[in-house]
Amino acid sequence: MSVIVLVEHTEGTIKKKSLEAVQYAAEIAKKLGTTATAVATGKIADTELQGLGAYGAQKVLYVADDRLNDLHARAITRVLVAAAKQENSPVIVTLHDVNGRAIAPRVAIQLKAGLISGALSYPDTVKGFVVKKSAFSGKAFAYVNATSEVKVIMLAPNSFQLNKTEGAATVENFSVNFEDKDFGVKVKSVDKITGEVPLSDAELVVSGGRGLKGPENWGIIEDLAHALGAATACSRPVADAGWRPHHEHVGQTGGTIRPNLYIAAGISGAIQHLAGVSGSKTIVVINKDPEAPFFKAANYGVVGDLNEVLPRLTEAVKKFKA
Ligand code: FAD
Repeated sequence: MSVIVLVEHTEGTIKKKSLEAVQYAAEIAKKLGTTATAVATGKIADTELQGLGAYGAQKVLYVADDRLNDLHARAITRVLVAAAKQENSPVIVTLHDVNGRAIAPRVAIQLKAGLISGALSYPDTVKGFVVKKSAFSGKAFAYVNATSEVKVIMLAPNSFQLNKTEGAATVENFSVNFEDKDFGVKVKSVDKITGEVPLSDAELVVSGGRGLKGPENWGIIEDLAHALGAATACSRPVADAGWRPHHEHVGQTGGTIRPNLYIAAGISGAIQHLAGVSGSKTIVVINKDPEAPFFKAANYGVVGDLNEVLPRLTEAVKKFKA
């Protein structure tokens, strides 16, 4: 018996949010007195797979099929279901992301399992199998008790701090008999966003709010992000107004991030915004209003006009790095 966790990768590098999912699965396994087994598909080097041991996976079931570098939900469902049956898994963990949304419900149906989406906590196994999850697009929390024998849990990314330890996982090749219909979706081309640090994995983030006044002023956010090697983010009204793409919106109804450094310029610090960023290690707030609520959550605050402060900060970073 073991807890199964699906890992995702980008061109062979396991995503940070998947390391978190492995750690999460390992903690559940410990509670249940068993081990965690990661399931990986596509082209990934052995050393990368073995590295999952440092996050608590004892074993990796690896399907070395290059077709699975792309999201083929039916094929990956087939892999997970086969792995869960082989391992007699009481719990299967995926991420609550684009891939997880396509795969986890399929797995749950096939295994007649209960599905918990948007999980934010470890299950409380004393009172049953109770998991805290976000509900109504993050407007509320719900505590769900899964009573089915098998449970599928979709973990909300960046809910937990990563703790790397020692250890290497053993890698076992795993084979599954696919059918043509498993690859019904054809990926014709992939448009890569170049030069950008993915927000969910970023250690440094520069974020802008309505105080920027319009998309034409975003250059000063991007200049600082570029100088630091940081990702860019924004508040919800900014994304709603179309100034920035929706994937940059952080907060209760957007992404949750836990970078080492979060620099927020022209953001008031509403509770819904803080819900997505308060796990950041260091928060720097730049706002012209000394009464802005964000200052209460900040480690460092600059009361000033962002149009003056941001370019000066960028220059200072460039000088420091030179
Ligand atoms: P504002 O509140 O307008 O703040 C702009 C700030 O910029 C002000 O503090 C101002 O002093 C400052 N400023 C202006 N000019 C300058 C200048 N030149 N230099 C320096 N500072 C300046 N919001 C989110 O961000 N994420 C969410 O996920 C989210 N989910 C929500 C869910 C629900 C159900 C609801 C009701 C709301 C949600 N919101 C969310 C909206 C949230 O309540 C706030 O309205 C929003 O965060 C405010 O965005 P803002 O700080 O960019 O804008």
